[in-house]
Amino acid sequence: MNPTVDHSDANNKKPILKVAVPIPLFGSFDYLIPESLRQYSFTPGCRVEVPFGRRTSIGVILEQTDHSDFALNKLKPINKLIDSEAVLDTRVLDLLRWASSYYLHPIGEVVQAALPSLLRQGKPAEAAVIKVWKTTDSTSANDLEGLNRAAKQKHILQILLNSPEGLGESYLNDNHPNWRPAMKALLEKGLAGCVEQASLPEAHPISTQAPSLNDEQTQAIETISEDLSQHHIHLLHGVTGSGKTEVYLALSERVIASGKQVLVLVPEISLTPQLTQRFQQRMGCPIAVLHSGLNDQQRLSAWHAASTGHARLVIGTRSAIFTPLPELGLIVVDEEHDGSYKQQEGFRYNARDLALVRSQKENIPVVLGSATPSLESLHNVNRQRFHIHTLKQRARTQSITRIKLLDMCSQPIQEGLSAALLVKVEEHLKQGNQVILFLNRRGFSPLMMCHDCGWMTRCKRCDANMTYHKHKHQLHCHHCGAETRSPTQCGDCGSEELLAIGTGTERIEDFLTERFPDVPINRIDRDTTRRKGALEDKLQQAHAGGASILVGTQMLAKGHDFPNVTLVGVLDTDQALYSADFRAAEHLAQLIIQVSGRAGRAEKPGEVLIQTHHPDHPLLQTLLHQGYEKFAESALVERQQAGFPPHKHLVLLRCGAIKKELGLLFMHEARELANSYNAKEVEIFGPWPAPMEKRAGRFRTQTMLQANDRKALHQLLRQWLPQLQQLKSSKQIRWSIDVDPYDTF
Ligand code: ADP
Ligand code: ZN
Ligand code: ZN
Repeated sequence: MNPTVDHSDANNKKPILKVAVPIPLFGSFDYLIPESLRQYSFTPGCRVEVPFGRRTSIGVILEQTDHSDFALNKLKPINKLIDSEAVLDTRVLDLLRWASSYYLHPIGEVVQAALPSLLRQGKPAEAAVIKVWKTTDSTSANDLEGLNRAAKQKHILQILLNSPEGLGESYLNDNHPNWRPAMKALLEKGLAGCVEQASLPEAHPISTQAPSLNDEQTQAIETISEDLSQHHIHLLHGVTGSGKTEVYLALSERVIASGKQVLVLVPEISLTPQLTQRFQQRMGCPIAVLHSGLNDQQRLSAWHAASTGHARLVIGTRSAIFTPLPELGLIVVDEEHDGSYKQQEGFRYNARDLALVRSQKENIPVVLGSATPSLESLHNVNRQRFHIHTLKQRARTQSITRIKLLDMCSQPIQEGLSAALLVKVEEHLKQGNQVILFLNRRGFSPLMMCHDCGWMTRCKRCDANMTYHKHKHQLHCHHCGAETRSPTQCGDCGSEELLAIGTGTERIEDFLTERFPDVPINRIDRDTTRRKGALEDKLQQAHAGGASILVGTQMLAKGHDFPNVTLVGVLDTDQALYSADFRAAEHLAQLIIQVSGRAGRAEKPGEVLIQTHHPDHPLLQTLLHQGYEKFAESALVERQQAGFPPHKHLVLLRCGAIKKELGLLFMHEARELANSYNAKEVEIFGPWPAPMEKRAGRFRTQTMLQANDRKALHQLLRQWLPQLQQLKSSKQIRWSIDVDPYDTF
């Protein structure tokens, strides 16, 4: 690496660097530029190696300045300048600074979150070098004949001849198992060669054409395209299958054709492999995909391709919002209502909200899409902050899914399934159709209980029961991750009469296997899809057609298309109807609409049955008879009455302590401090115990701040936070501040 020499005098007179160092303390740290490095330019966004305490650390320059609050002789010099060009451009740095201040999270850690891990370690900001196999200049199709007795070699050579760009290791591994011996032989014969080159995404040839768009799609695209040169926020509200993705594709094509880049955010890539594929087949430009399944090298390469402008479109999950994109022209946030945009620990940001901030800062349009927009977004439509575009029709079918409630009261129930639902399942299977049964609880049963004395399988570290996983003979705590062998005896009285209480997906699968022995049954949840490729296999089986049943958790509600499904059963809604979580109703409504959208996509009309003991519940009544919009309207009124977002803004101070008293002490001191600022516009509630008080061995308490006005909240927070850090009681516990918390647990 050759740092760039700086000839300007002005900078030579500024000997101090403000550096974001990855430690959980607020503010940046000041360092001196040593005499020996003065001739180089220290651009903000370049990495430096700095001494920190007894070790060294990799930080990012925020600013070069001649002022420090500390005496110069107290400052240490940096060890090394790592980059000649900024790895984070000024616009991303600006976004990170904004996020640090809004979410009250230390800038050093925020900057870390934006960097691929190899860059955090100080590795060069370059694409990975990979090995690529190619034919040699003299190889031709004639050489195939010489290989008639070596079928594998012939096969590999044929593929190489068809791929003049060469083939990488990962492609060969995936598509031609056991390719190495044959390749080695081809190398020895001089028919193939191996070169090292930078790994950059290639443009896939365009392999599918856009369908001719319907009026609603055309109108949305034309209206949004009227002004792509400035910041506008668009909400694309379209039922599942209405062709929202086609709108994203068309807009992306236009933006890319005008020489700009596009960023597409998705909640979870593994759940939507088709989306990435569709972009690749249609855009004809290099696409970088950023998600958690990549190894460090792959992530750096994808990031590098995006930040150098090589990739014209980037698809990524949450943290992709921080990718430097020199020519960004459009951001798309798919399934904008999805909770996985909110990071729930550490730096607790919301990528959907940061997409709005980034698009405003960069003065570009942003499109949020969903079949079930968040109440926040609908509220912003009401306030005319967002432009709304609606797609009411399904693109490929006119069929309408009928949603009905199944009253469970006094009905015979077997393993969570009412007799009425079972009759329906049987009917649909008889017609050769597929059925989805949806239950958001994995495992066999949520607890085991002693039939003789009532002892239960509690988690030692949480206020929760341990879930019984029958096939693995284990108990799992879904809150802290604890695992033990499942007991054969009561932990109290020693009785062997243990009952599995309640129903999870595993239990339903077992039951259905017995009940419908000839019907293939597929369970899709986190337990059955852990292995790489397992989800894809299962989805493929589901696509094969023929009568079958899919049992699964909310993974089934996301992204997939099940064309042969004609019946969806939602097994458990009662808990969500009466949950303490202020978003529970919204989540339930979104879930019902999302799973409903999975059924009856092809020619076959779909039917959705919702089991409940509360068929008269107003939420269900409004949702079913008047639709999601009306539901959202009334839910927004309820939020207003209860003082919850989006009408009021929330901040949660959370604390977890091994000793309960220490937590309470801190929380009471924190509350007193907060009171002392006399912030009239901010209401303070608590401290109170978290809904699940003990988790992973810590007692959890929370204090909630609520205000109509974000400014008032932030004013208070800016005084509060440094004082909280000073509290002696804060040192012995874990605490965090969550701005715009996703839930209050
Ligand atoms: P959404 O993103 O709203 O769920 P998609 O864009 O995935 O919808 O569209 C659903 C299906 O309908 C896809 O298979 C897509 O190719 C197809 N489709 C979308 N728009 C049209 C159209 N105008 N004509 C025909 N098929 C379409
Ligand atoms: Zn636990
Ligand atoms: Zn017992």
